[in-house]
Amino acid sequence: MAVEKKRQTSKNRILKRFIAICAAAAVVLAAAIFFIYNNAEPEQVQGLSAKATFARIKLSWDIAGHADGYDIYVSDGGDFIKADTLDGKETTSWKYKDYEHDKPYSFKVVPLNRNPLTHKATEGEASEEVSAEYETAKYAQKIPIITYHKIIPKGHTFTSTLLVTEDTFEEHMKYLHDNGYKTITPDEFYQWHKGKKEFPVKTVMVTFDDGFYGTYYLAYPIIKKYDQAATVFCIGKNSEGVTDEFDPDAPKDHYVRQDVIEKMRTEYPRFSFESHTYDMHNRVDGKKPAKGFTYEQIVEDCKKCDKFGFRYLAYPWGTYSKKMQRALKDSGYKMAFAYRPFYYALRSDDRYAVNRLKISGKITMDNFIRIVSGEAEEMNNPDAQ
Ligand SMILES: [Zn+2]
Repeated sequence: MAVEKKRQTSKNRILKRFIAICAAAAVVLAAAIFFIYNNAEPEQVQGLSAKATFARIKLSWDIAGHADGYDIYVSDGGDFIKADTLDGKETTSWKYKDYEHDKPYSFKVVPLNRNPLTHKATEGEASEEVSAEYETAKYAQKIPIITYHKIIPKGHTFTSTLLVTEDTFEEHMKYLHDNGYKTITPDEFYQWHKGKKEFPVKTVMVTFDDGFYGTYYLAYPIIKKYDQAATVFCIGKNSEGVTDEFDPDAPKDHYVRQDVIEKMRTEYPRFSFESHTYDMHNRVDGKKPAKGFTYEQIVEDCKKCDKFGFRYLAYPWGTYSKKMQRALKDSGYKMAFAYRPFYYALRSDDRYAVNRLKISGKITMDNFIRIVSGEAEEMNNPDAQ
């Protein structure tokens, strides 16, 4: 019995010593982790920057995968106020839409629920403050000139991406109206381009090419309803003569006629009519007239449009040449518009080759908003998200 008891006591002693050693090791290990963790440099949100576009300030940072999400704080001079919480490990940008153009802002981006052992810093610790520059965004530095072609009645089916239904067009105009966009006339654009006039950051120019009758019968009531400005570039030859009744189902295209053009100049001058050439919208011997015509032929074409009183021109297909630019200038045209997908009109544009953006009938509302709010360039370059 005594031997048995002695053996038991000895076993207990060994067990107790083992537990003590384990406890000591745990304390040392915890202390080490505590030391390492607390002496680590808190990890900053890397490369945080803010860039103002037309209607948004975009924050970007490059620390994807390090946190469960981010809290965004905004200050307009006073305390930082939480503006948003973002989910998702891969989030690396945020857009601030409700800013006022003439205020300076600072932003903080705070990562949420970082794993302290792998990412060192904890919630609320890491952030970097930046101030965005607003001077260049106070007024429009670039203007989207959007171009439609044929507006067709609601419910009509598409046969071409150049067709936009009147309800889609109304959605676009309503968006511009409800979101505080200013639409401008070619004269106003000309003043801006010359640096004589400033417009708000949210400024758009609405244009139509080819002069289809639907622009008068379908688009005009919508333009008037939302108090917008818009410009129709008409093919002079198609606009001669008297007005026909509008028949959307007619097999042949109808065009805005001269009497409508004249009537509108007094009835609603902000819906203006300008030139798409007199007769340079058909290929001649397989060549586009902008390239195939001589300088003299182009001047002659311009003369035939004198009776319409046009002062601005949109190139058919957006195609132009040096001789055509010269011919327009010599014929008294103030400006001419071309196309450049994903590009805005700039003050640095050639006055006789101003950038415009086409609006396809298949455009989504989201993409329309991106175009008018200054993100077309990013749509062209997915890496620039
Ligand atoms: Zn055209």
